[in-house]
Amino acid sequence: MTIRSLLIANRGEIAVRIIRAAQALGIRTVQVHSMADADMLAVKMADEAIDIGPPSAAKSYLNIEKVIAAAKASGVDAVHPGYGFLSENAAFAQAVEDAGLIFIGPKPEAISLLGDKVEARKVAKRAGVPTVPGSDGRVDSIELARDIVEAIGFPVMIKAAAGGGGRGIRIAETMADFERHFPQASAEALAAFGDGGLYIEKVITRARHVEVQVLGDGEDAVHCFERECSLQRRRQKVWEEAPSLRLPADVREKLCASAVALAREVGYRGAGTVEYLYDETSGEFYFIEVNTRIQVEHPVTEMITGIDLVQEMIRIAGGERLSVRQADIRVAGHAIECRINAEDPARGFMPGPGTVTRLVVPDGEGIRFDTMLYEGYTVPPFYDSLLGKLIVWAEDRDACLKRLEGALQGLVIEGLPTTIPLHLALVRDPSVASTDFHTRFLEPWLETEFASSLARSQEVA
Ligand code: ADP
Ligand code: ADP
Ligand code: MG
Repeated sequence: MTIRSLLIANRGEIAVRIIRAAQALGIRTVQVHSMADADMLAVKMADEAIDIGPPSAAKSYLNIEKVIAAAKASGVDAVHPGYGFLSENAAFAQAVEDAGLIFIGPKPEAISLLGDKVEARKVAKRAGVPTVPGSDGRVDSIELARDIVEAIGFPVMIKAAAGGGGRGIRIAETMADFERHFPQASAEALAAFGDGGLYIEKVITRARHVEVQVLGDGEDAVHCFERECSLQRRRQKVWEEAPSLRLPADVREKLCASAVALAREVGYRGAGTVEYLYDETSGEFYFIEVNTRIQVEHPVTEMITGIDLVQEMIRIAGGERLSVRQADIRVAGHAIECRINAEDPARGFMPGPGTVTRLVVPDGEGIRFDTMLYEGYTVPPFYDSLLGKLIVWAEDRDACLKRLEGALQGLVIEGLPTTIPLHLALVRDPSVASTDFHTRFLEPWLETEFASSLARSQEVA
């Protein structure tokens, strides 16, 4: 293995996660941080810490020159980008390579190809993977767009080719809607992503979001089965699980094989996720995009397969072949992850940064809490509100729900609002218990079931 030291170009819980993996491999760690993050847990854990600038992400975590300068100054062999920030930025991956260092992720060409959601659809089609019915390429004019929309039928989605993180997506129910949204979507995408390119997809109604974890070493690729991530708010995942119990065995097999075919099509290197929508009524699945990085919800896959995905991606970047063969990757039991955010579910999920005055972390078999928190830590207001992820594993889903409820009750975070009450309501909900949900389930549920359960608990209080 050629990697003896690595720099973590990220923050929060994922920085902690990467340091743990590096330590397990005997690798020295260097943590960059903004001025607002001097006290973060990853800074305390790393062998070395480097201040790369002001709180604003644009001036620190997103500043390629500063991150590269820190990597060179600290003499590391490699850079791990985590998720978000520069993780899917091909220019950053290239800059890391140009500095003579190893980027822990795919080659820059693969990032730019798959990071463009329109190009990724073309790759999927080449690999024989079914895509959501929609435009063949970018749609530059409203005239062309009208023809496409008429052919596929309403409702449709207008998506930014460079979008991500649930942003850059609009729904049009009618042609009037469409004509209003289309020019706005392009201007907005240009401002947000520096690329105004749009494409169109048919809306798959009552779909489930199912995604496949892949690992590649540039020569070979394997899958580590699927995750179910249908519980979403504003198109961002809230609760994820593995495996997806709604998938019939033959569909699961085809789905996972299609993700491997796609990875092989580009000679994929590292950990990646191929995302799909699954239409339960027809039994069809449709490719939506590839995330060329470690994902937030990777722990549920680790819990059911026993594979340490972050260690695996570091080893691959270090020049090793895949340590696992497809036939050896098996699913055992069930795992669920709850994203614990510094947001108040009783106040429209308003972010509430603050100081953690008390922290009690549940433990016991099958319970894992990936977090950036410690008692006395002040969560800064400048970044994503994810505080940690509670991940629970058990022999089957019912046992997992039961264990999760206990773990959520045992998780105490005082001093700032969190989404724990939301997860407690979800874990006790009959539709969730019977896996009876889809990507548009959570938002109306928040307005009805959840709102009334909040009202009841306030009355009691
Ligand atoms: P995952 O796909 O791993 O479930 P998310 O979609 O929640 O994760 O994204 C992970 C993190 O990356 C979040 O902090 C999200 O805001 C951020 N993110 C993802 N894609 C983009 C993007 N294109 N631009 C800005 N932030 C992004
Ligand atoms: P992002 O890059 O922001 O993660 P995705 O293309 O992965 O965007 O879509 C995010 C979410 O939006 C999906 O998980 C799903 O809930 C919804 N979505 C995306 N495309 C469609 C579609 N064609 N039909 C229905 N829902 C969709
Ligand atoms: Mg996505």
